Amino acid sequence: MAGKKVLIVYAHQEPKSFNGSLLKITVEELTKQGCSVTVSDLYAMQFEPRATRNDIVGPLHNSEAFNYGVETWEAYKRGSLSKDVVEEQKKVQEADLLIFQFPLFWFNMPAILKGWMDRVLVQGFAYDLSKAYDGGLLQGKLSLFSFTTGGSQEMYSKGTISGDIRYILWPMQHGIMHFCGVKVLEPHICYAPACVSEEKRKEMLTAWTQRLKTLWKEEPIDCSPEWYFK
Ligand code: FAD
Ligand code: ZN
Repeated sequence: MAGKKVLIVYAHQEPKSFNGSLLKITVEELTKQGCSVTVSDLYAMQFEPRATRNDIVGPLHNSEAFNYGVETWEAYKRGSLSKDVVEEQKKVQEADLLIFQFPLFWFNMPAILKGWMDRVLVQGFAYDLSKAYDGGLLQGKLSLFSFTTGGSQEMYSKGTISGDIRYILWPMQHGIMHFCGVKVLEPHICYAPACVSEEKRKEMLTAWTQRLKTLWKEEPIDCSPEWYFK
């Protein structure tokens, strides 16, 4: 939709990878729709994933015992978070939609992307005391987790060796995005691109292009359905 702002947070080292192709499609299709698209290419940026003292510029709130959560919260209020974190926060603030594009690493996002979550979604900016979940500070935004796997779809269904893939989504969608007040669109999963035929790979890329064409008509999903704890 023309005028919408999209931030793609991308975590793959290789532009020629399948994730690289998915990213390229996303940028092209959304730009064609008139969206303004920003990409945070985390490996290319050499994004710092570690949550350390270096994220606070100047003196600490309590230099006796370092507490990362407290110090970044205080630094956010004082405007003294490190420049790279502030830049990412600005991109998040401006975005209507956050797309996370990555290969699944150990049933999770790659460390560089997890580090982005740890460092950017600071208390005071993304959530606050009693301002979480539906009351989170990033209300009004949408998010979408788009990732690839090594395992096949069969391996990730209920009752099989890897289990239902939807459990992997719980910390990302509910624990991070929903916690910050961001609504979640249906995840997009491309299973085992390295193991399927070239034809199947093209099909997966076409399916993503097609989905993007009607993305703005989609309704957010319930990322915390009851069956999780049954
Ligand atoms: P690539 O290997 O880059 O691409 C697959 C194929 O697609 C390549 O042949 C490439 O040339 C081709 N391709 C690229 N672009 C196009 C195009 N435009 N048209 C046609 N073909 C194209 N997997 C799991 O399932 N669970 C895990 O827990 C897990 N943990 C992992 C942990 C680590 C540390 C690592 C390194 C991997 C792990 N994996 C896991 C596997 C990983 O998720 C997959 O290797 C990854 O998702 C594949 O995506 P890719 O973009 O790297 O694919
Ligand atoms: Zn939820």
